[in-house]
This record gives sequence, structure tokens and C-alpha cells, in this order.
Amino acid sequence: MLLRHTTKEIKERKALTVNPAKTCQPIGAMYAALGIHNCLPHSHGSQGCCAYHRSALTRHYKEPVMAGTSSFTEGASVFGGQANLLQAIDTIFTVYEPDVIAVHTTCLSETIGDDIPQIAKKAETDGKIPKGKYVIHANTPSYVGSHVTGFATMTKAMVDYFAESNGRKIEQINIIPGYVEPSDMEEIKRIVSELGIRSVMFPDTSNVLNRPQTGRFDMFPKGGTTVDALRSTGSSKATLALGRLASGPAARALDAKCKVACEILDPPIGLAATDAFVDTLRRMGGVSVPESINTERGRLLDIITDMHQYFYGKKVGLVGDPDQLISLTEFLVSIDMWPIYVVTGTPGKKFESKIKEITRDVPHEVKVASGGDMFLFHQWLKNEPVDLMMGNTYLKYISRDENIPLVRFGFPILDRVGHSYFPTVGYRGGMRLLEKILDALLDKTDRESPEESFELVL
Ligand code: SF4
Repeated sequence: MLLRHTTKEIKERKALTVNPAKTCQPIGAMYAALGIHNCLPHSHGSQGCCAYHRSALTRHYKEPVMAGTSSFTEGASVFGGQANLLQAIDTIFTVYEPDVIAVHTTCLSETIGDDIPQIAKKAETDGKIPKGKYVIHANTPSYVGSHVTGFATMTKAMVDYFAESNGRKIEQINIIPGYVEPSDMEEIKRIVSELGIRSVMFPDTSNVLNRPQTGRFDMFPKGGTTVDALRSTGSSKATLALGRLASGPAARALDAKCKVACEILDPPIGLAATDAFVDTLRRMGGVSVPESINTERGRLLDIITDMHQYFYGKKVGLVGDPDQLISLTEFLVSIDMWPIYVVTGTPGKKFESKIKEITRDVPHEVKVASGGDMFLFHQWLKNEPVDLMMGNTYLKYISRDENIPLVRFGFPILDRVGHSYFPTVGYRGGMRLLEKILDALLDKTDRESPEESFELVL
């Protein structure tokens, strides 16, 4: 294996990332844009960027991902991409007829300095944007941030372009789900409606990237938040944003633009984070928590009790995105596991202090890195191994080299199927996560037990 050469000795590295624990901004922007109904994401840059972003999403979600590209060549790279984008807007509205084109930039168009709002304005003046159709945009150079910040910026663009206040508040709560699976978005909506609350979720990729097989290709699937629903978010009575990094900017923009008060919580992964989510919904909606939700919570508690003996004191290494890792770390600590290595590729010092705070009572040194990479994570493992790793598919190389079980979690998961259909959020999602963790731990024990101590029941 390639990674067997990873060294134990850790040297200070400032200008070199090896095996990054993140991917590029436009991927997140493209994913968010797919959560608008009848929207075609458009990559303002070279074809190679767009092909990579589409294939990353397709390989993760196992669904076709449609997107346009400005197809930069040498000319556009030198003189700017205005002519290409104008042509693309004209062609897309004529041939594919989406309601919205969601343009995101790439490293190249950002370096050139293309002004997307100015180009969109020109397209409008030239009559290339039909009435009732829209071009929105997000600036997503990939030399800053990560796929999570790209997602956040495109989600905020939905507020900037569409949200409007009709002058009075309607009995509706906005839910901004954060960078989670379509299955998670579906589960969040289910919990909200179980509480009897009317809501609008944006973006919403359920029924887009986990759509059913119908035998027919739809360029624009049924799912996604409609433009009318996005417009109405400005009149909702409150916003509940899940994930400070992925959803915070849109929630704050909505408050500033339309005076919709917001609360920003960690994603509802695990018992405590889901409790906070349900309780905040209860308060915002002025409703009582129904027995059906209490039953789900009770089941999660029961399964934690049944499994606790296997989890206690197990060391875990985590790689992923900041918002999810915060809730996941909290969940693992609450079941007496020890998350001792936590790495995200997305920069941000607040993440490190938050993880330190969550793990302050873990009876072991905890190492945290934001803007870190998998090479560093591997070096930590070389010095002291863990019992379990959780993170995206790229960890499988380390998992194999070090013989440490891996639970796939986060983005991207390229080599397994099912994550876009089964949630990890909410009480039910928590149960699924615990089942996966326990299976991974006990499968290894079974596999490696010598014959004389191979037990039917562990
Ligand atoms: S990092 Fe920049 S150049 Fe590379 S694929 Fe992403 S947007 Fe394109």
C-alpha cells in the first residue's frame, strides 16, 4: 500500500497538504444548488473543474448530476469569461428551460476576477433571461475554504436573491439543514412534521439525489425547494439553522434582510444534539413533543444501554467536516467512547476550541486539527493507534494499512451505497450509527479471536 511509507516522526508543515481532508468549494455550491427545484447548477470555469465536481457528486450519491459549464479555453483565461457565460445562459434557458441557473465560480474565473452579477445584468439587458427565470451566483474560489463553505455561500445566495418579506409573519419555520445527506434532509422534515410544524427547508436535495427509480430520466427531478417557497422564507416567523459553518451565513443573512430571528444549532446527530433540535422546534412552533418522538428517543436510549459495555473506553479517530464532527464527537463522548484524534480539512480555529471543550472530560490526551490532512492523522495513528476510525472513503487506505475498522461517515463516500437513503440524524439516525459502530468493532473481534476464545456471544 502507498501509505505504508507514512512516517511516525511529525515535522512542522506549513506550505504542504498531503491527502487533504476536504474537497473544493464548487462541489458544495453545486450540491446546494441541486436543492432548488428546477435549477441547473452552472460552473463558471473550465470543463475539467465541472467534470470533476459532477463526478464527485455522482460517485457519492449514485445519481446523475446535471450542470452546465462556461467551458473556458485559452481565450477566456486571458480575456475573461463574460462571452462564454452570456452564451451559456442563452443556451441553457433555450434548451433546458430551468427556473434558475445557479452560477458558481472556480479558481480560474476568480483569479481572472470575473464579475458574475455584472454579467448576469448584461444577460438580462440583452434579453437572455426569460421573464420569471433567474440567474443567481456564489463566489467559490477553491484556494480558500472547502466544499462546506461553498455550500454555505450558495445557500446564502438563495436568501440574497429570493427571500422577501410580505410585511407580516406567517406560521412557518425555515429549516436550513446544513451539508447533510438527502436522507438526512428527509428525516429532518419528517421530525418537523411529526411535531405538527409547517416549515420550508432550503436547500432540499431529498427526492433529487435519492430519487426513486421510475424507468424515466427527468432532467429536473421532483424534489428541491421551489422559488416561491424560497421567497416565502422572508416572511417566516423564525429560522432554525443546523450547522454553524454550513447554515449560519444564510440564517444570519435572512435575519438581516427580512428580520427573521434565527437560532443556530449543531446538526442533530446523536442524543443530545437531537434533544436540542426537538426542544428548539417545540419552543419555536409553540407545540408539544408527541409520544411518537418520545418513543424514538426511548429506543435510542435503550440501544445505548444495551451496547454501552462494548463502547466504554474505545479510542476513536475522526476525519470529516466541522459541523458534523462537533455533534459526532459529542455523541461518542456521551456513550463513553474516547475520540482522541479529530481532523477536519476545513480551516477554522473555533472548531478546535469547541472539540477541546466537548472532550475536556475524556481521560486521554485529545489531538485536534482544523485545516489538517489525513497524512497528519495517519502519523498520529502510527504513534498511538485507535480502536475505530470514522470518516470518508479516503480513510480506507489507512484502515487497511493499520488494521483499524472504519465506519464510513460524511463526504465523500464513494465505495458504499445506502448513505443517501438511510439517515444518521435524529433518534433513528443515532440508532443506525450505533449499529454500524458496534458491527465494525465486534466484526474485528470475531475475525481475530483465536479458536479457543471464539465466542458465540461476545
Ligand atoms: S480546486 Fe479549483 S481548479 Fe481544482 S477543480 Fe476545484 S475549482 Fe477547479
